[in-house]
Amino acid sequence: MSKAAYDVLIVGTGIVGAACANELSRRGLNLAIIGQELVGDGATAAGMGHIVVMDDSDAQFALTRYSQQLWHELRSELPDDVEYEQCGTIWVAADEDEMIEVRRKRDYYGEHGVPTEVLDPKTLQGLEPNLRPGMAGGLLVPEDGVLYPPCAARFLMERAQARGAKLHLGVPVAKIGQGQVRLADGKEISAQIIVNAAGASAADLTPGLEIKKRKGHLVITDRYPGFLRHQLVELGYLKSAHSVSSDSVAFNVQPRRTGQILIGSSRQYGAEHKQVDSFMLVRMLQRAQEYLPGLARMSTVRTWTGFRAATPDKLPLIGPWTGDKSIFLATGHEGLGITTSLGTARILADQITGTKPEIPVEPYLPSRTAKEYAHA
Ligand SMILES: Cc1cc2nc3c(=O)[nH]c(=O)nc-3n(C[C@H](O)[C@H](O)[C@H](O)COP(=O)(O)OP(=O)(O)OC[C@H]3O[C@@H](n4cnc5c(N)ncnc54)[C@H](O)[C@@H]3O)c2cc1C
Repeated sequence: MSKAAYDVLIVGTGIVGAACANELSRRGLNLAIIGQELVGDGATAAGMGHIVVMDDSDAQFALTRYSQQLWHELRSELPDDVEYEQCGTIWVAADEDEMIEVRRKRDYYGEHGVPTEVLDPKTLQGLEPNLRPGMAGGLLVPEDGVLYPPCAARFLMERAQARGAKLHLGVPVAKIGQGQVRLADGKEISAQIIVNAAGASAADLTPGLEIKKRKGHLVITDRYPGFLRHQLVELGYLKSAHSVSSDSVAFNVQPRRTGQILIGSSRQYGAEHKQVDSFMLVRMLQRAQEYLPGLARMSTVRTWTGFRAATPDKLPLIGPWTGDKSIFLATGHEGLGITTSLGTARILADQITGTKPEIPVEPYLPSRTAKEYAHA
């Protein structure tokens, strides 16, 4: 049998592909990465960059918290253009029902070592004076942060390249399998392991993957320094983000270092065109103005869309693909792939190199899907 050209070939140059390249090169593997356009394209170019701990499930919590801690460790090495800021998240409670969720979240986070602070209406107003008066309170999660995803992806990829990883851009991959990657121009490259990190397009390369494109819109304003201090998210976000079928919007805003405000968020299935859907945009901005009325007076600079890679159980697919033993998956991160890229890369590299992972990997293994879908 002829020797493969590489130990590992990664397909995809979004933040997940870049993080995997960084981690696998750190472990001394002979590596190449193939992307079709730029480093930090795809959903990574479209994402919000909120580095957030979430507790939709224990498995989601474990991966987001682990990853957030890895971002904290990397923090002093991140270049300025990554714009990492530990601004904290405030989960805003509009009414007493949502305060019940605030206390549940505080208890869960507290039991798992994540510091939080319950905010009464006055404290909330003091921290974010531009919020509409009359909110019931909120939960401050001070260790959450924000960053600029395309530059974070570039930083991770450059570290991999500095260790000898080869980056090929410009020609998309047409097919992967049996230790071979075929490019659209017909060229073939061999590797012992191929990592499919093609985000929302992963199923095009690995048929049978249950990944749906979930469209999102974002808007960025002109510069209004001091208007917003934390990432603010409505607690209703939890309901809308978790819906697996209907379209939804939620109040989710982020302060950028430039003084700009990034306004999200929307979720849609079945809209696979890149164009802005004005009905979703209007709903999203109206929702944001219900919480921050001052937004109505602001100028916006740009609006765009992106596609999250959604799995049926809302957890990513990280590990060997059951259909072909040369293929490993690192995809399906939906709205959390910027946060979870570093944890994904660690546990993927652990599986490839036979190292004991620091968190249990079973909830993310692609082999879980066959079992789950059989009972769906
Ligand atoms: C509106 C919006 C807001 C978001 N906000 C946040 C947030 O605040 N926090 C957070 O953690 N996450 C957020 N996300 C999610 C996050 O952006 C994604 O989970 C993450 O970017 C996924 O990274 P990825 O590398 O897996 O995929 P992508 O970034 O989509 O990268 C996929 C890569 O595969 C390449 N590719 C695809 N097909 C081929 C092919 N045939 N050949 C070669 N290359 C190919 C693409 O060119 C690209 O390089 C948001 C997403 C959206 C859409």
